[in-house]
Parts: sequence; C-alpha cells; structure tokens
Amino acid sequence: MRYYSLNQQAPTVDFRAATIAGQAPDGGLYFPEHIPQFSPELLANLKNMTRADLAFEVIQPYVGDAIPADVLRRICAETVDFEFPLVPVTGQISALELFHGPTLAFKDVGARFMSRCLGYFSQQQTAPVTVLVATSGDTGGAVADGFLGVPGVEVVILYPSGKVSPLQELQLTTLGQNITALEVRGNFDDCQRLVKQAFLDPQVLAHRQLTSANSINVARWLPQQFYYCYALQQWAHDTVPVVAVPSGNFGNICAGLMAHASGLPIGHFVAACNANSAVADYLRTGTFAARPAVVTLSNAMDVGNPSNFGRILELFEQQHAAVSRLVSGAVVSDTETTATIGRVHQQTGYLLDPHGAVAFRALEDYLTEHPEAHGIFLETAHPVKFPEVVEPVIGAEVPVPVAVRGLLSRTKQSVLLEPEYAALQEFLLR
Ligand SMILES: *Cc1c(COP(=O)(O)O)cnc(C)c1O
Repeated sequence: MRYYSLNQQAPTVDFRAATIAGQAPDGGLYFPEHIPQFSPELLANLKNMTRADLAFEVIQPYVGDAIPADVLRRICAETVDFEFPLVPVTGQISALELFHGPTLAFKDVGARFMSRCLGYFSQQQTAPVTVLVATSGDTGGAVADGFLGVPGVEVVILYPSGKVSPLQELQLTTLGQNITALEVRGNFDDCQRLVKQAFLDPQVLAHRQLTSANSINVARWLPQQFYYCYALQQWAHDTVPVVAVPSGNFGNICAGLMAHASGLPIGHFVAACNANSAVADYLRTGTFAARPAVVTLSNAMDVGNPSNFGRILELFEQQHAAVSRLVSGAVVSDTETTATIGRVHQQTGYLLDPHGAVAFRALEDYLTEHPEAHGIFLETAHPVKFPEVVEPVIGAEVPVPVAVRGLLSRTKQSVLLEPEYAALQEFLLR
C-alpha cells in the first residue's frame, strides 16, 4: 500500500515511512491510495473469527510488506488482548465499550498498535525515534502505556498543568523509563502550539527523528477500524446498525467510514459533537468553518479544527451530498450531557461517561426519527476518569477499577515547563 499526502505536494510513501514521519513533509495527512475490500468469506465468517485474526485481516492490506505477516499477527494479538463488549442499554441502544484497555480509554488500541509498529521499525534503524505528543488527558496515558519500554523509542508528553484529571495525571507521570512528562504551565492549546513548533524547527529535527502519536499518524488511525468489526461480530439484530461516535478530531469515526467503504455492513453513522460543532454544521449546511475550541465537559472532544475532517472529505471525493447521506451530525450541550448521564443511570442503571453520553443522546435523537432502527454508541472512556462530572449527577462515588487501582499509590514525576518554545527547544536539544 502507498500513501499520498492530502496536500499533494509530497512523494507517496509506504506504511513504514508514513508511520515514522507521522505527517507528510508538505504538512498534509497521509491517505491510502486505494481502499481494500473485505472478501465475502471474511464478512460471512466474521462471527467465528478471533479478535486477533480479524484485526490482522483488516490491517494487513494497509501495512503491505512493511511488516512480515508473523510479526504483524503478533502485533495484532497484543494490541487487542482485552474485551470490547457490546452491552445492551435500552431495547434499541447498545454500548460498545472501548474502555477495557490498560488506560481505560479507547485510544489504547491505536497507541498499542502504533507503538509496536514503531518498535519493529526502529530495530532496523540506528537513529532513535522521539514521539512528541500534546495531550488534553486521554491520549497521553494511552501513548505512555503503549510505548513503555519499547527499545529505540523515547516518548515526550506535554500536558497542561492542573487541567487533566488526577487519574489521568498519574497515568502520564508515573511510568518512568523511556517516558517523560512535561508539565506545561499553560493550557492544552499552549501544549499543542509548542509541539507544532518543534516539528518545524530545523535545529531540533537535525538532532532527533521526531514523530507524532495522535490520530494524524496512520498507524494510530487505521486500527480503529477494529472496533466497528467487533461491534458487528456481536450484533444480534436482523437490520444493520446505526453507529454513533463521540467525535473530536474525527479519527475514530473516519476509521469507521473506512471500514464501511471496505464493505462492513453499517447502515448509518451519527457524528456526535459537543459545542465544538464545526463538522456537524458542515454536515447540515455544506459549509465548513474551523473555530477556536471551546471548553466542555467532554473535554477530549474539544477540538475546533478537527485534523481528520480532510480525510473524510477525501473518502467521499469532496461530495457533501455523499457524506451527508451516510453521516448525520448532532450537537449536544453540556446541560444535555449531564441530564443524559443522570436519566440513563436512573432508568437503566448504566453509567455513561461524558463522551459516551454525548453519543448516547445523539443516537437517541436519531432513533426517534427512525423508530424501526437499532443503534450502537461507542463508549470511549470509563466514567471513573471524569468523577468531577459524573459523581455530582448520580450522587455517589464511582469505584476505581482494579486495573488502575495500583496507580493511586504511585508518585508523580514531571518536568515543569514554561509555555514558551525556548523551554521545549532546550529540552529537546539536550
Ligand atoms: C479522543 C477521544 C474522543 C474523540 O475521538 P476522535 O477520534 O478524536 O474523534 C472521544 N472520547 C474520548 C474519551 C476520547 O479520549
């Protein structure tokens, strides 16, 4: 498989080069030259396959000969060695729970897959790779966990001081080894600005091979197709599902749309947004306008100018009519988010996190208009990561799952950084 830049000003590359570079040299996102098609046998056999085998079949055409089949099989098996249960919440709505990975975030899958690919590639080159990433919370923990101990890879995570939840901060700052957490005295936008500047700094680039680990990287973006396949494996209705995806940078839903383009039977997608509604507005009106991000309760979706929107347009050949036939946008306010958490908990006993609540509410509204359909929403994080939102609504504490209880006794280690580029540059040039 070859990948081209959406800016059209850079040569095509293979999966290896696309993964190592992250972004094309012309600043564009990489996109595959063709969309592989699932074979009729694969679709007929979906329910009998193991998660690891299914992951391998889905991703192999995208990787091509950049990784030998036996190595790729092992990478797939390690990436998805936890559950992705489809849990009925109401008669019409089920949750696909994506939070059973080591950091309780759906980003674990992409981070685990990418880290193992990069680990394999770095065995064949002498220069170590530095993964530089800014996080508003969930990305950093998933990346830190995924890359921990990978030889030849150093990870530098920037996070805004005091603006991630206590559990998220422990996930970022307690691992040590090849992971360094830079605690920036500023907000998430400062972190992102510093990272972007580093990627353009010739002095830093001469000193280190830098790559990014957010969903612009194909190795983090493409494995998210697995979720949709696992949803279909567990789907028991006769009709094809409507899938609602809580969206920020639109990497997750864009991966779902890729799986659909490969032949996965999904009837409709709902792009569920919080007040950051640029893409939802585009779906409704045909006009796209990026805006500064606004802060909401579902903070992992606070993105004003989603990077993967360009990939969605490319997939549909820039045709608004084609995108909007398959994908509806929905905008859910903070008030509706907390009301949904409370109501669903009271009526069904199911506890949503703020991001899942946005998707649940958007799906509910869609199904009101389509009463014959059944739907799935992606529950992208465990509610325990957002106690300050969830606990007042339900009037009770959310028990910390066993998987992360050990974190609570560990000690934070971070390097404080002023929100000025000179400070990051000095760190990276050391
Ligand atoms: C990152 C994140 C999202 C948004 O996913 P995108 O791929 O950026 O659209 C939604 N929910 C949670 C919990 C996240 O961490």
